[in-house]
Amino acid sequence: MNVMDIFKTMEYGLAPEAATPAFEWIKERQPFGLFINNQWVKPASGQYLDSINPSTGKPLAQIAAANSADVDIAVASARTAFESWGQTPGHVRARYLYAIARHIQKHSRLLSVLESLDNGKSIRETRDLDIPLVARHFYYHAGWAQLMASELPGYEPVGVVGQIIPWNFPLLMMAWKIAPALAMGNTVILKPARYTSLTALKFAEIVQEVGLPAGVVNILTGEASQVGEALVRHSGVNKIAFTGSTDVGSSIRRATAGSGKKLSLELGGKSPFIVFDDADLDSVVEGVVDAIWFNQGQVCCAGSRLLVQEDIAGRLINKLRARMEKLRIGDPLDKAVDMGAIVSPGQLQEIQRLVSQGVEEGAEIWQPSWACPTEGYFFPPTLFTNVSPATTIAQVEIFGPVLVSMTFRTPAEAVALANNTRYGLAASVWSENINLALDVAPKLKAGTVWINCTNMFDASSGFGGYRESGFGREGGKEGLYEYVRPAWEKAVSTSPAPSSSSNGSSPSADGHANATQFNATDTTSDDIIDSSNGFTPTLPAIDRTPKMFIKGKQVRPDSGYSQDVYDPQHRVIGQVGEGNRKDIRNAVEAAHAASGWAASTTHNRVQILYYMAENLAVREEEFARRIVQQTGRSFVDAANEVQTTISRLFSYAAWADKYEGVVHRPPLRGVVLAMHEPIGVIGMACPDEYPLLGFISLVAPAIAMGNTVVVIPSQQSPLSATDCYQVFETSDLPAGVVNIVTGQRDTLSEVLADHDDVDAMWYFGSADGSKRVELASAGNMKRTWVSYGHPRNWLDSVQGEGEEFLRESTQVKNIWVPYGE
Ligand code: NDP
Repeated sequence: MNVMDIFKTMEYGLAPEAATPAFEWIKERQPFGLFINNQWVKPASGQYLDSINPSTGKPLAQIAAANSADVDIAVASARTAFESWGQTPGHVRARYLYAIARHIQKHSRLLSVLESLDNGKSIRETRDLDIPLVARHFYYHAGWAQLMASELPGYEPVGVVGQIIPWNFPLLMMAWKIAPALAMGNTVILKPARYTSLTALKFAEIVQEVGLPAGVVNILTGEASQVGEALVRHSGVNKIAFTGSTDVGSSIRRATAGSGKKLSLELGGKSPFIVFDDADLDSVVEGVVDAIWFNQGQVCCAGSRLLVQEDIAGRLINKLRARMEKLRIGDPLDKAVDMGAIVSPGQLQEIQRLVSQGVEEGAEIWQPSWACPTEGYFFPPTLFTNVSPATTIAQVEIFGPVLVSMTFRTPAEAVALANNTRYGLAASVWSENINLALDVAPKLKAGTVWINCTNMFDASSGFGGYRESGFGREGGKEGLYEYVRPAWEKAVSTSPAPSSSSNGSSPSADGHANATQFNATDTTSDDIIDSSNGFTPTLPAIDRTPKMFIKGKQVRPDSGYSQDVYDPQHRVIGQVGEGNRKDIRNAVEAAHAASGWAASTTHNRVQILYYMAENLAVREEEFARRIVQQTGRSFVDAANEVQTTISRLFSYAAWADKYEGVVHRPPLRGVVLAMHEPIGVIGMACPDEYPLLGFISLVAPAIAMGNTVVVIPSQQSPLSATDCYQVFETSDLPAGVVNIVTGQRDTLSEVLADHDDVDAMWYFGSADGSKRVELASAGNMKRTWVSYGHPRNWLDSVQGEGEEFLRESTQVKNIWVPYGE
């Protein structure tokens, strides 16, 4: 092609990036070893795997195949390193992270080329997006290392973290995991994806260059069945951070259940890209290109479902087809290429299979007229129209350059269609009407919402999903909590649980006066039982059997059975209904029906929480006597529990309009609104110790943040919770916000954890019950918060209330709002 030809056709010429330095780097080092304790070591298996260049299908490098023996050595090295790294001052860690950021920039071109060769993604993307974001992540987290002591007081690192990453953003996912882990003082073992390990190995060299202490970062290449599974099951690992498919995420949830390992999962998505009829359609077209053809659509948050308002659908689809015709696919190292190769033949076949299924299911397929390169693994940009929302291609994550489009008429229909997925990772909203866009954004079940933009990422703004897209956030301050734990946990995990049946006095409440205003003497349960209805000694007491509390009504248990409640002397002091699966179903349904609670003003919630405190205070003495009756604790002690409960309600009334989120300023013209949203319906099983305080300590933060709850009170001492029915009724709490099902706590907890319409499950009970809850929760990947049988001092304001509870009650939604013409 000569200059005149180019002038006439305006065709792009080749603009290749040189691959020679990367090939030389590989040649000098391969076969690559494992990186353990800052040393390159041979794998115990003595075996190596080929890493393939997806754009040619030819072998690129040989990487070591680690196995469980290597995992043992790496964990031991990380454990030893943690002894000192976990104690290293934040400023020192900040210096290392800063140095890593600088070194990434110094090696940026080699990293970009290696990434393109190994993954098949275009150099434009690796050079302009992946690698700069990697550096930004280390800079940003250098800052958090510096500030950890002042900004996260009372928290300490988790320990040794196993990190498992996918192949779609190899170095970026590594940075998202390693940077916060190191900043918070943890040591790590990283397992890169089998197909894309090379940039992680280059990163290992950077670790050596900056002189990071040995064992802080260990990198084990190899296969999932040999390395990934061993890491997940290893008892020396304190946390697993995983990004990948929902199926594997779910198997990791099961494998770690009950182990006490912290877990964060960033899983799949089927994100909606919603276009209203007043959107700027030319911008929309470029947005779609970014949403679904960026990285060949192998993006967990890819805008793979185009939802268009009906009246503009025809126009938009025509524009889109014209643009698709102009997309350029080919050698990833050509700087003028829009789309590179699919990562592997297996992934390519999976895309082809799902596309064929779409055609069979009756959708209309459109692809550009040009042909893909025949060498390597390529798939053309593909658009499906006439797609029905229930079909496979509309529901399943294709993880390829395939867009399905559907239409809607009204904003409400758009929201319903957008939320019609088991995932909840991201969404994009296009409208020139900012009122409409900001009205729709909070209604979308997604961790990130981009307004008039898409696929924007920054270290300052947390990223992560709802529902089957996983839990936990990466980036932002919220992401740090994935790598720390409250310092007090270590101390109590070895001490026995405070017993509700002990007669000894409980620790006094933090900042709460003893309840001497009742002028109560130290009364025992015997005194109470003997004297409580003393003024009518000749008449039998009127029987009072609490029912369930569902949808604001007291209802009989479905089973028709009741169970006895005993005092510490094993005397029957009452009966409560024996809840079953049906009661739980009804309660969950009621909790969903009350979802308007989330939209009520925070001021409204504040008032109701104060009313609850007020109405409880009126009956302080009665509640204290009930605690004595159930637990045998002293009256003073019980009165102290009631006082603390009232104070706790005040705390959450205070927090309800103050735990508000933040505004981020990432490097763009615009802002990111990080909003604290309620999770939805939370199931909760209450501790046996402190029957009233334990119950309110869980319910109050959850409802303060706008959730609705299904509560299983203490099985041993349920009457304090059932006595609250009248408190709720007289406090204007809307029906269905709090639902209570009494009965076998562990059995009912499992039913709740297994329920697909429950969004999170809290469990405060035995180690075995915790494990069962975690296992059952894997069904829909709901968030869990369990005690693993460890005690918590509910009277203490550090352990029993505060931000930890608010964080568990909320999820952060990041809404990106760019501005400017
Ligand atoms: P996987 O979820 O299988 O793999 C992700 C990572 O987990 C890899 O490092 C993998 O190792 C490892 N792994 C796999 N199985 C286990 C296990 N049982 N225990 C521990 N670690 C394990 O994703 P795939 O690469 O197989 O892709 C399959 C599908 O997953 C894609 O088509 C796409 O739909 C989805 N996906 C989603 C991603 C996201 O970001 N949400 C990212 C990647 C994929 P190894 O590479 O050795 O198999």
